[in-house]
Amino acid sequence: MKKITILCPAFNEEAGIQAFLSILDSTLAPLAENYLFHIAILNDGSTDKTASAVSNYEASNFTITLCNFTRNFGKEAAIYAGLERYQSDAYIVMDTDLQHPPSLIPQMLDYWAQGFKVVESVKSARGKESWIYKLFSTAFYRGLSLLSSLELENHSDYKLLDNEVAEHIKKLPEKQRFFRGLVEWLGFPSVKIPFVVPEREGDSSSWSTLGLFKYSIHNIVSFTSAPLHLVTLIGFLMLIISIIIGSVSLYQWVIGVAVTGFTTVILLLLFIGSILMISLGLIGLYLAKIYDEIKSRPTYLVQDEINYPMKKKNQEE
Ligand code: UDP
Ligand code: MG
Repeated sequence: MKKITILCPAFNEEAGIQAFLSILDSTLAPLAENYLFHIAILNDGSTDKTASAVSNYEASNFTITLCNFTRNFGKEAAIYAGLERYQSDAYIVMDTDLQHPPSLIPQMLDYWAQGFKVVESVKSARGKESWIYKLFSTAFYRGLSLLSSLELENHSDYKLLDNEVAEHIKKLPEKQRFFRGLVEWLGFPSVKIPFVVPEREGDSSSWSTLGLFKYSIHNIVSFTSAPLHLVTLIGFLMLIISIIIGSVSLYQWVIGVAVTGFTTVILLLLFIGSILMISLGLIGLYLAKIYDEIKSRPTYLVQDEINYPMKKKNQEE
């Protein structure tokens, strides 16, 4: 039987995780004749009772592994940890807040059985999101596709990966990963399943606006150096403009009508100053990225790992 590992990053999900597990359980149960399921909850340093909610969950038909990190390392690290730690024939990565409907799993497995190594779910309608979240995510995806030709709008992390694809992802040397982007970058033929994002179970999204902004910048920087080229281009344009304005001023000085436009000088100074600052900042971003990679620190640290064997409730009854 083929082994399927369900990788579920969880950060402060105590309110919804039991509901998630029970829906997942009943979705997987009819498929258990053909597949061996393993559910891995990657508890990403939750500060609430997520861990005990998992251990108190009684009715599972499947083995559940609870992997507790020492602190919050982020969802990307959690996904990577799951791929790295659990051997499997295929992986399904999904959120634990029921925004990734388990009902897609049978279809994902069907596609996998047909030979697709990547099955992706795409958002055909987005759930309730604040306008600022929508604005950020649209700007981010448009920017990313413009600068790095990665088309990821409406993609989600809810994916099935064949072990072969997972192996490739694990072999990539970078420490800071952007799962969605990397899967796309690998370029395996994939099939897409549309889904409507339901409302979040439990508390509101764990992303803060600032966090989302940092995540966006970080992902653009790790996927393309186009902004650096852009800066060079702007520099050249500025140089051409400066030469024109310089020649004009020089000419005015020669024919004796100089000292006009104090305002122009100030404006130019400010403009050049800001362009310089932006360019320096950008270079800094890439440097920081290199620094982070060079430090080579582990992506995540595990505090403990607990296996809850399957409790065959059907047999007990
Ligand atoms: N998550 C995580 N670590 C984090 C933040 C989130 O493991 O630092 C998990 C979270 O528990 C959920 C999934 O990643 O299962 C997606 O998070 P969330 O629902 O907050 O994000 P959104 O749905 O807004 O993208
Ligand atoms: Mg969510």
